[in-house]
Amino acid sequence: MKYDVDDLLQRQFAVSEHYRKVFSDLENVRTRTIDFGSFKYVLQYNPGRIGSATADTKKKVTSDNCFLCEKHRFPGQIALEYDAQYNILVNPYPIFKKHFTIVDKQHVAQEIIGEESKMVQMAEDLPGFTVFYNSRNSGASAPFHRHFQACETYELPIYQQWDTYYNGGKIFIWEGNNADRFWLCHDGTRLIYMIHTEDKDTAARVLKAILRELNDVMQTPSPETNVGVALDNGFYKVVIFPRTKHRPKEYFAEGDNHYTISPGFADMAGLIPCAVESDFNRLDKERVTSIFTQVSLPATDQRILQPIKRAII
Ligand SMILES: [Zn+2]
Repeated sequence: MKYDVDDLLQRQFAVSEHYRKVFSDLENVRTRTIDFGSFKYVLQYNPGRIGSATADTKKKVTSDNCFLCEKHRFPGQIALEYDAQYNILVNPYPIFKKHFTIVDKQHVAQEIIGEESKMVQMAEDLPGFTVFYNSRNSGASAPFHRHFQACETYELPIYQQWDTYYNGGKIFIWEGNNADRFWLCHDGTRLIYMIHTEDKDTAARVLKAILRELNDVMQTPSPETNVGVALDNGFYKVVIFPRTKHRPKEYFAEGDNHYTISPGFADMAGLIPCAVESDFNRLDKERVTSIFTQVSLPATDQRILQPIKRAII
């Protein structure tokens, strides 16, 4: 691998008890599968995620108190330089067995526009990993500082089910002369744009086009999405989940109706970290459907075809 992230992980463990503990806890993490037939969500009981799940994303954060800025990083956190713009750090509150945060060296707001090619390049540079992005109001616990994350692709249900999504019901599909395919589908819980191509430039171009059109359709300052890019068996595989809401009504409800679930890319991709044990025990198909349909663009919205149709032109 061009970037030795396994070595980074080992070096991080060597200097920090916290990192050794949180990653070793993940080895024995409790999981539970919610089976929808052709696809599944996996729940993970992970109390360490409480800070991210309940993060106040409206809080005023500057480079003087930002935990992604070099001066204020998590105690003992070390960095591997990715390039002139980005560093790779080990995530101090992991969901995945290998969980990295790829952080802009500058304190600039979270933004994917302009970085699409870089994201595809990162996926190529980290074989076996998915590089993912959470937009400012759709799961990023640090909307004030640009960052991506990376985890091993096999840990994400959406990638395990890739062929099922290709073979199953689709709202729209475009197939090229070669192996290029871009499609839009809704599985009853979430809307997904999917890109499948052997060509790196095509992956970046179509991702860019879909994001720009989504921005246009939804009229937000930056496209509200969760995006994942993986290079898997020679194909660039991109998933884009357009978002309408940061948090579902269950997050704001009181008493038994309350769930501390604040979906980001991992959740949208089928791995739901539950910081609260009762959520882990209680979540079922109906509740998962309720949560994900609320935060996702509905299949009935006529505007959803525009991004994929324009991306073909
Ligand atoms: Zn910062």
